[in-house]
Amino acid sequence: MSKDSLPTPSIPQRGPLLLLLLLGMALLAFVLATKARELGLEQTRLRADANLSRYIINLQHQLDRHKDLPRLLASQRQLIRLLQSPRDPALVEDANRYLAWVNHTMGATDSYLIAANGITLAASNWDQPRPFIGNDYSFRPYFQQAMEGGIGRYFALGNTSKVRGYFFSHPVTVNGQIIGVTVVKVDLEDIEEGWNDPLQDILVMDEDGVIFISTRRHWRFRILSHRQGDPRRAAARRHYGNHARPATAGSQSAPMPSAAPSGADLARIRASQRYGDAPLLPLDVIRRQDTPRGDLLLTLIDQTPGTDGLDPQQTGHYLLLSRLVPEAGMRVAVLASLRPLEAAVFRTLAIGLTLYLACAGLVLFLLARHRLKKRYEAELQQAHEKLEQRVRQRTRELTDTNLRLQQEIEQHHQTQNQLIQTAKLAVLGQLSAGINHELSQPLTALRHFADNGRKLLERGRHEAVATNLQEIGALAGRMAAILQPLKEFARQGGDNRRQTDLRRLRQGVMVIMGSQLEQQHARIDWPKDMDGIRVQGDLGRLEQVLVNLISNALQAMAGQPEPRIDIGLGVGATRVQLTLRDYGPGLPDAVLEHIFEPFYTTKSTGLGLGLSISHRIAQSLDGELAARNHPAGGALFTLTLNRAEPSPEPT
Ligand code: ADP
Repeated sequence: MSKDSLPTPSIPQRGPLLLLLLLGMALLAFVLATKARELGLEQTRLRADANLSRYIINLQHQLDRHKDLPRLLASQRQLIRLLQSPRDPALVEDANRYLAWVNHTMGATDSYLIAANGITLAASNWDQPRPFIGNDYSFRPYFQQAMEGGIGRYFALGNTSKVRGYFFSHPVTVNGQIIGVTVVKVDLEDIEEGWNDPLQDILVMDEDGVIFISTRRHWRFRILSHRQGDPRRAAARRHYGNHARPATAGSQSAPMPSAAPSGADLARIRASQRYGDAPLLPLDVIRRQDTPRGDLLLTLIDQTPGTDGLDPQQTGHYLLLSRLVPEAGMRVAVLASLRPLEAAVFRTLAIGLTLYLACAGLVLFLLARHRLKKRYEAELQQAHEKLEQRVRQRTRELTDTNLRLQQEIEQHHQTQNQLIQTAKLAVLGQLSAGINHELSQPLTALRHFADNGRKLLERGRHEAVATNLQEIGALAGRMAAILQPLKEFARQGGDNRRQTDLRRLRQGVMVIMGSQLEQQHARIDWPKDMDGIRVQGDLGRLEQVLVNLISNALQAMAGQPEPRIDIGLGVGATRVQLTLRDYGPGLPDAVLEHIFEPFYTTKSTGLGLGLSISHRIAQSLDGELAARNHPAGGALFTLTLNRAEPSPEPT
């Protein structure tokens, strides 16, 4: 794949994804909040409903204990008699004692008898500090109801006692005429004591919404709400207001009035002295909302009287469940705080959103990882392509270089061979001098034997001629042997497969160098144990190396009175070492550094090729040539060669 066709890693589109996540979060929050609120509201409502029922039953039970007592009292003869003769003190005392006894026995708070003009004639509290006797109760609705022939039920703040109470009344009838009213009062002061639900409060209101019983003490005699001209309110008032008749039906649900009472209403309530001189302030309802089930959701400011006299204000949210209890003349309500509900909604939201965020985080993480992986793979692919391309290019370059190198090596070989050949020619001079020296003697002898042979033939001495001819043959053989090294020397290149006996090597070298050694009166010591030792390499090249080394040694010792060369031999299992030591000036360090470099020479007439060629020859034979100084002075050259198996020498 080319670089252009590589897939470009996609740029992550984070904006829309984040927007989607936010929208999802908002939707989830909305659904969770709505559902949690619905659920919590239903639970609160169920609990409030149960509380309401329980409370209504309790309240009714408490009140019902005394509801028939006024009727019983109305039938008592001593009370009727007192109504007929109200000024008789004996009858008054009799009635007082009787009322006190009944009151005590039945557990009521007060029982009393009112004349038709509203003046109290006898009372159970006749012997208490502020007895009701002589008080005018004609303004009380329960008196008026009874005087109209009905039975009265009414709750109010005690006119004299200032204690909240519930009043039952009954007319006293003689011959179809109402001559008085019996009244029993039940104290409601401790009615809230037993309530123990801290999150739900009980409110008992009259038809005007005035709170009469409240588990929140500071709400007593305040007005929750009121609606002018409300037909339900009118109906309620007919039930238990001024013209109320006791109803037999149980409690019933009815919507709460929703507006504050008017000034006229307030004036009417105050005139009834029902709640003494209480200021009848409305509760501060900020918001009210009807629920589909007919309950109310209220937000109101609650002014709780602080212990230090301050009134800390706090806004509370409530669910209000209320039921009319017509026969008791009241509306009972449960005000349930929604604080737990709000906490539950908050908790649900927190858990839900945390889970959502965790899931969203996981999804984002996986997406990012996937994207990174894709990008990484693309980059890897790209890098791979580049690498392959570079490898291909490098391989091409290397192949070219290799080719060039091979060509150079080839050229080098050729040059090397040429150099060796040149060096051979240089040695040729020496060689020819040697050969000349060697051949001159046999040639003279040959001429001598030939002349002698001719003379002997003329004389007919055939045996002597034969001996002469034999000598001539021997001399020819010797001359051929002398010429052999020349042939070897002239041959270009070498053969590593050939082997050379060290003894033959010595012979060859001595033929070449003999005359020169002689001229310089130099002594050369060959090792004694050379016989039978063979090395790898052809005779010609090995001679060339030794001839070079001996020539250099002789040149170094030129002018010395007793030039001397020691040749040593070391034979190992696989290698053979020849050492050549002279007694000349030795090798200075500067010379040692460059001694095997071609054309390095310290001589004015030198070529500087002898040692470099010898070095190459040793290497080409898989051997080694090294130079150093002998510790006792003079140069020391070491030629190491592969040892050859003793076998017939190839020709
Ligand atoms: P050439 O003999 O033509 O100078 P060589 O390669 O044979 O070239 O020798 C290189 C140099 O090494 C010589 O010029 C000489 O300085 C030094 N050299 C070689 N052999 C000896 C020796 N036996 N003693 C001292 N110097 C030597």
